[in-house]
Amino acid sequence: MSLLNRLTKGVGDAADRAKFEADKALRVRKMTSEVGKLEADLQRAIVALGERAMELRPEGLEELVDQADGLKLQVAAKREELNTVKAEEFVEPEVSAKFCASCGTELEEGTKFCPSCGTKA
Ligand SMILES: [Zn+2]
Repeated sequence: MSLLNRLTKGVGDAADRAKFEADKALRVRKMTSEVGKLEADLQRAIVALGERAMELRPEGLEELVDQADGLKLQVAAKREELNTVKAEEFVEPEVSAKFCASCGTELEEGTKFCPSCGTKA
């Protein structure tokens, strides 16, 4: 095989490989999306099944139904707790008044000496 032939073949291989990889990536993306949709459908079916089972309380599923009922209550309580936390607002701390240790006069913020008796604040 001449050098030119080998180079041309190399380019051809690279192009085939690029095409293969692009095609594969496309198929992978499409199938990933399909798998995701099927999994979502499965989840919905399981949820619907569970909800129906909870309504019917079939024999043998009592324990699971009770467990789900307990979790439902926990979720509701935790959600309420969360809403309470969400509703919390920052409370500015009240500046407590200072009084002269000697004569009891109320001292303004930042005052170094009592205005009445001159005692160091
Ligand atoms: Zn004073």
